[in-house]
Amino acid sequence: MKRFSCPSCGNEVHFDNAACVVCGSALGYLPSAFDMVTPVHPCANAEPAGCNWLVEDGELFCAACRHNRTVPDLSNDENRTRWAAIELAKRQLFYSLHRWGLPTPVGDAPPALVFDFLADEIAKDGSAKPVLTGHANGLITLNIAEGDDAEREARRAAMGEPYRTLVGHLRHEIGHFYWDRLVRDSAQTDRFRALFGDERADYGEALKRHYENGPPADWRQNHITAYAAAHPWEDFAETWAHWTHMVDGLETAWAYDMGQPGVRFDPYGAPDAQSVIDAWVPVSIAVNAINRSLGQPDLYPFVLSAPVMDKLDFIRDLIAPHRSTTNGPTTN
Ligand SMILES: [Zn+2]
Ligand SMILES: [Zn+2]
Ligand SMILES: [Zn+2]
Repeated sequence: MKRFSCPSCGNEVHFDNAACVVCGSALGYLPSAFDMVTPVHPCANAEPAGCNWLVEDGELFCAACRHNRTVPDLSNDENRTRWAAIELAKRQLFYSLHRWGLPTPVGDAPPALVFDFLADEIAKDGSAKPVLTGHANGLITLNIAEGDDAEREARRAAMGEPYRTLVGHLRHEIGHFYWDRLVRDSAQTDRFRALFGDERADYGEALKRHYENGPPADWRQNHITAYAAAHPWEDFAETWAHWTHMVDGLETAWAYDMGQPGVRFDPYGAPDAQSVIDAWVPVSIAVNAINRSLGQPDLYPFVLSAPVMDKLDFIRDLIAPHRSTTNGPTTN
């Protein structure tokens, strides 16, 4: 992500700030400008969800919040905190979608992009009715328990995952959304199947097999994560999420003058995946080393194999036609 500064005093501010910590000026993020400005029309979720995005078209909700269909019961403080954390991750997601110029249709039926943020329910007979995070036909459902750090960490450990974040969930689920829009029934299908496998393989059976037997021993040779080995759709969603991690991570690194001198381009408009990989890998090694210096796990616990790089290139190619020069600043 790019860097932001206070329009009043010039102090550096963060993407989620609603006020400058130095001069106290109110701040809001203006999606069309990709920048922090003095707020005029705050989003209606400013108070309940801490949304700091501004509305530019007379709507009630900002460009990210207007996609919500269901939000949790806000009379419960715990729900409120979890939902606010999820909304911040969702605004990060939308930053990238806007930078790429990807379509984000609004509405309540396909092809609209819709979010349900739900809490587990306890049925009358006392049994738990768990909410499953996933995507179906434009609707992304997220269990708000994922917005609780302890809960998410417990799930990460139970699943044996090296990396589990809210923004990671959202970048994964939006991958399914764009598979439907950009790959399904398109001229890309053959290239997709050659790289990721045939998605007509029984999905339910594939997931059952994954959860019963785990991934194949050699999954690292072909997939970015163990879960990506479950089914071609999951492979695509995991790889899509990963491309977003790399591109946004690299934009941030360059915004702070990290990385190799003399190598710089807008990673959202990268000419191919390889140029992003070449610039990102040394940065990721450095940030992992910094994390280890401070006794933290690796920030970037992934290894890129040659087949994964080819899949990343496919995803770059899918996104590229949507980019235009109006999709935000080059890295500052
Ligand atoms: Zn200021
Ligand atoms: Zn909002
Ligand atoms: Zn998935």
